[in-house]
Amino acid sequence: MPKKPFSKPELLSPAGDLLRAKTAILFGADAVYLGGKKYSLRSRAGNFTMEDIRKACEFARAHGSRIHVTVNEIPHEGDLDGIEDYLKELEDCGVTAIIAASPSILRLAKETTGLEAHCSTQMSITNSAAARVMHDLTGCDRVVLARECTMAEIQAINDTLDLETEVFIHGGMCVNYSGRCILSNHMTLRDANRGGCAQSCRWHYRLYENDSLLSRESCLFTMGSKDLSAGEHLYSLMHAGVSSLKIEGRMKTEFYVASITHAYRRMIDEIYETKAPLSQERLACYRHEIAMAQNRETFPGNYAGIGGSSSIIYHENSDANVNHAFLGRVIQSTSDSLILETRNPFELGDVVEVMEPGKELRSFTITAMKDEELGVILKSKTPMRHVEIRCGFPVAEGALLRKGSV
Ligand code: SF4
Repeated sequence: MPKKPFSKPELLSPAGDLLRAKTAILFGADAVYLGGKKYSLRSRAGNFTMEDIRKACEFARAHGSRIHVTVNEIPHEGDLDGIEDYLKELEDCGVTAIIAASPSILRLAKETTGLEAHCSTQMSITNSAAARVMHDLTGCDRVVLARECTMAEIQAINDTLDLETEVFIHGGMCVNYSGRCILSNHMTLRDANRGGCAQSCRWHYRLYENDSLLSRESCLFTMGSKDLSAGEHLYSLMHAGVSSLKIEGRMKTEFYVASITHAYRRMIDEIYETKAPLSQERLACYRHEIAMAQNRETFPGNYAGIGGSSSIIYHENSDANVNHAFLGRVIQSTSDSLILETRNPFELGDVVEVMEPGKELRSFTITAMKDEELGVILKSKTPMRHVEIRCGFPVAEGALLRKGSV
């Protein structure tokens, strides 16, 4: 029997900017993690100014949520100048926790601030002894376990350890040991461990031996991993006593963040309420929800054992499959119409679904619409326009519209 009680874990969602942080919170995230302008990976994610971190914290507090900030680059000599002041500024903004990959930053946060310190997955913690050493050394409050852990290992770590654990449940995986890859450094001079990964494993390659082409000219291949999608393992993770379930993707769109957060929010709530695994039927339903926002192939991760060749996307893929389901964000609504800030094209007669925080999906058919500048239109083709659409019921500001079926 696990020593930790069956409890509802934190759902931790990613955000690349303030809009996505608010979206994640509205769609059910208990906490959001984001990067500041300094000391953080995902340098291309935009990352937050201190003012935006403060605004995100205020919004989170008002909605009973929390903000975690990544301070997770692998620092080299000289990279830590000013770190203590930075941590104090984060605390002053109302940040709950930092996620760091350096023992010195974890310890500094515990010694000089009231911030929680979470040991990043970059530290590749795969056993309870390593987690305990990290805790004893730094005083960290939580370890984010390596994505390479199996379910049996996660269970054993939680049974042994009186320390919070966090695991990934959805999003990108590295084909190498997470965060221990310098493919990008070699091929683009962009350091994966300092936020610059060019995802070289996902490029298209031909295979040569000396000058001889071994693969057919037309047969390009990639080495990228499929994305993690661990809905079928949620019950076991909760049963194991994991404290936080994390969605990867600070560079993903608001639609992705909303859709994936919304799906996992409902899955976790349903499992907690029934104290049972999801049925195959419910899983299929949630998988459909996730697939509406996902444009890469997925696999259930390493929870049932290290993924074999079926976890890799070998064929020329798949990233090109851009998702056009997202139609826009509702910025205003009356009793029978809404104003949409548009993203992808749609037209009269299209069936659309309304994704509203905390509510079941609702559908309607577009029967009339008006562009704020062009007047009555039959088709909306341009992103970031304001289009009024008749929908027959009130919709909350911040709801998202996607293509659907009645
Ligand atoms: S190149 Fe691929 S395997 Fe390496 S760090 Fe980047 S995403 Fe991970």
